[in-house]
Amino acid sequence: MSDIEKGVNLMSTGEVEKLSSEVYARQLDKADELANFRERFFIPPGNIYMDGNSLGLLSRDAEETLLKMLAEWKQLGIDGWTKGTPPWFSLSEELSNNLAPLVGAEPEEVIITGSTTSNLHNLMAGFYRPTRERFKILADELNFPSDKYALESQLRLRGLDSEQGLVLVSSGDGRTISEDDIIAAMIDEVAVAVLPSVLYRSGQLLDLKRLTKAAHERGILIGFDLSHSAGAVPHKLHDWNVDFAFWCTYKYLNGGPGSVAGLFVHRRHFECLPGLAGWWGYHKDKQFDLALEFVPAAGAGAWQIGSPHLLSVAPLMGSLNIFEEAGIKRLRAKSLALTSYLIDLIDTELSQAPYNYRVGTPRESERRGGHVALEHEEAVRINAALKQRGVIPDFRPPNVIRLAPVPLYVTFHDVWLLVQHLKGIIDNKEYEAFPRERDTVA
Ligand SMILES: *Cc1c(COP(=O)(O)O)cnc(C)c1O
Repeated sequence: MSDIEKGVNLMSTGEVEKLSSEVYARQLDKADELANFRERFFIPPGNIYMDGNSLGLLSRDAEETLLKMLAEWKQLGIDGWTKGTPPWFSLSEELSNNLAPLVGAEPEEVIITGSTTSNLHNLMAGFYRPTRERFKILADELNFPSDKYALESQLRLRGLDSEQGLVLVSSGDGRTISEDDIIAAMIDEVAVAVLPSVLYRSGQLLDLKRLTKAAHERGILIGFDLSHSAGAVPHKLHDWNVDFAFWCTYKYLNGGPGSVAGLFVHRRHFECLPGLAGWWGYHKDKQFDLALEFVPAAGAGAWQIGSPHLLSVAPLMGSLNIFEEAGIKRLRAKSLALTSYLIDLIDTELSQAPYNYRVGTPRESERRGGHVALEHEEAVRINAALKQRGVIPDFRPPNVIRLAPVPLYVTFHDVWLLVQHLKGIIDNKEYEAFPRERDTVA
């Protein structure tokens, strides 16, 4: 346990006065060994940025590697593919070394390619092999809808509809999904299960190890969408025997809007052909032989389709260096300290009338990702009022304000200030000035 966590634990055992004081927030920042990373990020001027779970901020490191890529294009033209540093041709494979430790994989098991949703399609095209007995896909009703759309279209491609082919685990409380319910839904007809690691709305972290074991005991393949945990929560995908995984890199990994995504294929599936093959998945040494017969790369690299979107890969070079320096374990420890602090402040300062805020995120640290779901009847309007005050959260219907105190660039004092803003907005009835409808990109 880090000093910060100890501090927060001490405070949650009764010293309410001190917990709520600004001085205490400052003390936590002083004791924070990751505090210096903040200086490497561009914080939008005047903002308290709590939306790193939707779009992570730009770092100087990522800016530098993007500009370097542009300079190489300027100076080298086509030769950048072989003479860039590193050569563009093998840049994605190069990045696997930095990416693998974040998800607990071997470098050959991960690759930067595609988008979250297109990677899900590709993986399902390869791993979903329906038979007469086993033809169903298991998912849950709280996952980000894009995943469900993709799974339904995968069913349609095989001549099935969701009625016949989709087992959708429902939530008891609208916030969380119980692992017991998921395991109970692992019936004989299920071929593949696809679940999120962290639920995008409530921030619940599922027990990937337990679910993987249960799936395998029932002859089911299992894959996870790590969009809300990659860069926030350590994983051990290889050791847990997860079959496949995919995630975006523009949330906690700070790769930039629409940055190229990640995917994982467990080593024991290296003989499984990519669902949607293309020349960029070819064995690297022979790719430019341009032979007619497909020879897949030995590893996750085989699942690449076409030329990598290098201008959206380049920022990741800088960003992943930051993760290597900071270390995912230390980031997780600070993230938990920040979210515990926020939850404690909400409970003690904001849960009673007239405030009536509720925490919708599990309180146990092993069941929580990197953000806190704050619930309120007036969430849309409070969200708008927060933005006017320079606090950047995001709103998810029907009543959730998501707050991500990202450990690389959010301070304990930011969290303290956020709580003062949440209070002030109710004290002054500020939210009443805003409409009940939300913007297109909430
Ligand atoms: C952010 C997110 C996505 C986004 O998909 P893209 O293809 O990157 O647009 C998908 N799934 C989950 C769970 C997400 O959180």
